[in-house]
Amino acid sequence: MAPLVPAAQPATSHGTAVEVRDLVVRYGELTAVDGISLTADYGEIVALLGPNGAGKTTTVEALEGYRSPIAGSLRVAGYDPSSEHRQLVSHIGVVLQRGGVYPMMSPERVLRLFASYYEQPLHPGELLARLDLARVARTPYKRLSGGEQQRLAVALALVGRPKVAFLDEPTAGVDPVGRLAVREVVNDLRSDGVCVVLTSHELEEVERLADRIVVLNRGHVVASGRAEELAGGREEIRFATEQGVDTTSLAALLGAAVVETSSGRYVAALAPSPQAVASLTSWLAERNLVLGDLQVGRERLEDVFIRLVSGESETRHFAEEVGADGAGRRRGTRR
Ligand code: ATP
Repeated sequence: MAPLVPAAQPATSHGTAVEVRDLVVRYGELTAVDGISLTADYGEIVALLGPNGAGKTTTVEALEGYRSPIAGSLRVAGYDPSSEHRQLVSHIGVVLQRGGVYPMMSPERVLRLFASYYEQPLHPGELLARLDLARVARTPYKRLSGGEQQRLAVALALVGRPKVAFLDEPTAGVDPVGRLAVREVVNDLRSDGVCVVLTSHELEEVERLADRIVVLNRGHVVASGRAEELAGGREEIRFATEQGVDTTSLAALLGAAVVETSSGRYVAALAPSPQAVASLTSWLAERNLVLGDLQVGRERLEDVFIRLVSGESETRHFAEEVGADGAGRRRGTRR
C-alpha cells in the first residue's frame, strides 16, 4: 500500500522527536504528573499505558502545549511546546478523546477545511479511503457512528502530515475492521518516519503496535521498555479447561506454580518446553478433562500491566503469591 507520506515530500527528521525531563503538572492541590521523563524518536511508536488518572492525558496535553508544567523541560519536534506553541502546531497531529467537529459538517468537508490550513496536506479523499470512511464521506458528523467519528478524528490528526502524532485512544469504540484500518495507518506513520505517541487501554493493540511502552501510575513512570523487556523474561503456559481442577496436583507434576486466574482459565509459571506441554496434556487426559485455548510464551502485557500498577500487596509476581504447594489464585486479574 502507498505510504501516507510520499517520498517526494520533505523527509521527517531522525533522532529524538519528543523529550520530556522531570515533568511536573498540577491541578490546584493535585499533582497529576510528578517528575516524568521519557523520550520518543522519529519512526517510533511509543505507547503510554496506565490506569485511569495515571497522568497520560495530562502528559500528552503538556507535550501538545495545552498544559503548562510547574517544572521540567519539554521538547517536541525541536520546539518548546509552551513558549513555541505557534511554531509547533503545524508539526503535530492530535487525536482528542472527543473530537469537536461542527455537527452538520461531513467528513469530506471538515477534512478539506483542515487540509486548507496546511501547506502540503495529505489528500482528503485518500485519507477517507484509508480509514474506511469513503462510504460516509458526505454524512453529517452528528449522524456518524461513534467508531466512524473516532476514525475521522484520526484522519484530522494526520491530514497535515505531522512529524509527531499524538493518538489518544485512537480506536476507542471502533469495530474490528476499523481497528485494522487504523492500525495499518499507524504502522505506515512509523515507516514514514513519524513519531507516534499513543495512549490506549487496549493492551493487545499496544502489544501489536508499540515499539516501546512507558507505564505510568499516579503521575510516575513505573516501567518502560519493549513489551518483552517489561515481561522480564517470565514465561508461562496458559490453558483453559473445566473450572476448579486440582491445581495442587498439577503444580506438583510440573514443578511450578499453577493458578486459576478466572473461571476455567489457568496459568502455569514455567517455560513452555515440549515436555511440560506433554505432561500437562497427559495430566488432563488422565482426568478426562478437555484442553482448550492453549497458549505458551512470555507473560502477557495485560498481566505485566496489572503487576506493575496494582497496589503494594499485589505487585509481586504471581509465583510468589501461591502457597508452598504451588497452587493458588492470582489476585487483581480481570479475566
Ligand atoms: P484516563 O485513562 O482516565 O484517561 P489519564 O491517565 O489520562 O486517565 P489524566 O486525565 O491525565 O489521567 O488525569 C490525571 C489526574 O488529574 C486525575 O486524577 C484527574 O482526575 C486529574 N485531572 C485531570 N484533568 C484535570 C483538570 N482539568 N482539573 C483537575 N484535575 C484534573
